[in-house]
Amino acid sequence: MKLIKGIKVASGIAIGRAFVIDDIALPRVPRRNIDPDAIEHELERFEHARRAAIDELNLVHAEARKEMGDESAKIFLFHIGMLNDPALLKPIRTMVRDELITPEFAAAETFRRWIERFTAKEDSAFQTKISDLYDLARRLIGKLVGDRLNAMDEELAGPTIIVASELTPSQTVAFDRSRVVGMATELGGTTSHTAIVARALGLPAVVGCQGLCAAVSDGVTLILDGDRGRVIVDPDEDTIEQYQGYIRQAREFVRSLDDLASKPAVTRDGVEIELLGNIEFPDEASKVLERGGTGVGLYRTEFLYLTGSHEPTEEEQFQAYKRCIDLLEGRPLTIRTLDLGADKYTQMRTAIPERNPFLGLRSIRYCLANLPMFRTQLRALLRASALGPVKIMLPLVTSVHEFRRTRYLLRDAMEDLDDLGIPYNPDIPVGIMVEVPAAVLLADAFAREVDFFSIGTNDLIQYTLAVDRTNERLASMYHPTHPAVLRLVRMVVKAARRKNIPVSCCGEAAGDIEFAPLLLGLGVRTLSITSSSIPLVKRLIRSVTMKQCERLAKKAITFDSELEAGAYLRTRVRKIVPEAFEGRAGEE
Ligand code: PEP
Ligand code: MG
Repeated sequence: MKLIKGIKVASGIAIGRAFVIDDIALPRVPRRNIDPDAIEHELERFEHARRAAIDELNLVHAEARKEMGDESAKIFLFHIGMLNDPALLKPIRTMVRDELITPEFAAAETFRRWIERFTAKEDSAFQTKISDLYDLARRLIGKLVGDRLNAMDEELAGPTIIVASELTPSQTVAFDRSRVVGMATELGGTTSHTAIVARALGLPAVVGCQGLCAAVSDGVTLILDGDRGRVIVDPDEDTIEQYQGYIRQAREFVRSLDDLASKPAVTRDGVEIELLGNIEFPDEASKVLERGGTGVGLYRTEFLYLTGSHEPTEEEQFQAYKRCIDLLEGRPLTIRTLDLGADKYTQMRTAIPERNPFLGLRSIRYCLANLPMFRTQLRALLRASALGPVKIMLPLVTSVHEFRRTRYLLRDAMEDLDDLGIPYNPDIPVGIMVEVPAAVLLADAFAREVDFFSIGTNDLIQYTLAVDRTNERLASMYHPTHPAVLRLVRMVVKAARRKNIPVSCCGEAAGDIEFAPLLLGLGVRTLSITSSSIPLVKRLIRSVTMKQCERLAKKAITFDSELEAGAYLRTRVRKIVPEAFEGRAGEE
């Protein structure tokens, strides 16, 4: 038995067998020559593998459609299309015939050339396809040399825990959801991409587990403890029993929250809190409602780009937004414009990777540098605004100028739609995410122009503390309770109140039951959180008084260090609402 500590990023406990996924790379295939007599046999083997990969992709596609809806599942249709595309198949077959090499080597070589060609293109449509090419190459070559995903079907029955150095979005969404019960990775931090997707899927996850891949082999039993941030490799019987007890207790606790869905999120002294959900895929909107949210406060549209096979067209985007609006039936929907870049746009896809991507061409900067793409999204958003209460939110705004340019583009798009007689809401609210200190310091100026603020603590923490949010080595320095962060939050809320504009918080910290009361005490009245956290946060809200939250915030902000503030919050909140912690038996 071995214990590996990591960073808890999605709560819950899972017990299962490990399935180790290799790094993002083409499978290593040695060059092997074949006998001329064997050509037909080898081509037949290739054909067999190709068909098997297509069959598998059809199943994955059907599963993904159920999980995430048509739009996001389309990626797998693109994969199937590629496997029928002569442009890919012909060179492979020709190499087998002319160079007398195995089809697995010919396939690896062909994919390598495609990836090189795509990498060299500036066009983002090509860039976004590169990780798909890796995925597809692994699947097809896997079929020829002994398939990893097949191994999952054949060798590993029962609950499976994915172990990897790092995961891409398309890997994460492609997992067999009936089998995968958790994820553990070596890299990443609390608000890294894997963490957010794991929470969206409701899977326990631990990231930043040093030495994990070396310590775990396929099939070994693991306990993944997303409440305490640890992975136990090859646990003994007593430990398994202890954890089975925790799982039972947590299930009972979750069941006890079920009846909260229809109740309002109101504090004991009658202050109503708007509790919204964060989503990455349109169909998640229904999960938000099921769990008791009253709308969507952050729709991360970049996932349309990250999981799609091409840059989504205006119509495709419009359909995705419409799907959310339909599911929400009149409830509010805040759609964030593309937040590509940094960890949401892997640098491996660019011809010349940025040296410092978190300070690079990302988010609103990326959009303003790629105007045709941005205009397409703005038009789709405007069209959607005719159908329901849609707001537009801009990510990572650092300068008023960026906001004004976007407003200008929006006006332009409105004029185009007027000419075509296409309806939209001319008064659509446009707000910004406050996630860099510059935006906080200028909050007064922004408040004169924007319709709302939403505090993005995930990035605000990283830019305030100069701590990369995805760097597991700095995880202990990434602290929402840092006094500088708390003061910035307070400044934003005050600026918003002075100008009477709404302010929400949509960072992961808003779904943390220790941090949420502090946000309420600082004056935030709208929280937008991952849907799986909604029931617990609602229970917390219904158990506290606003007076208690205000006292808590007043005190917490006086500490000079994040550790003191964190320790204070932990003990105080547990004392005020011990019932909110019932589901985390044995947690340290
Ligand atoms: C944030 O930065 O807090 C946020 C909500 O945006 P994202 O996590 O998508 O960067
Ligand atoms: Mg952000």
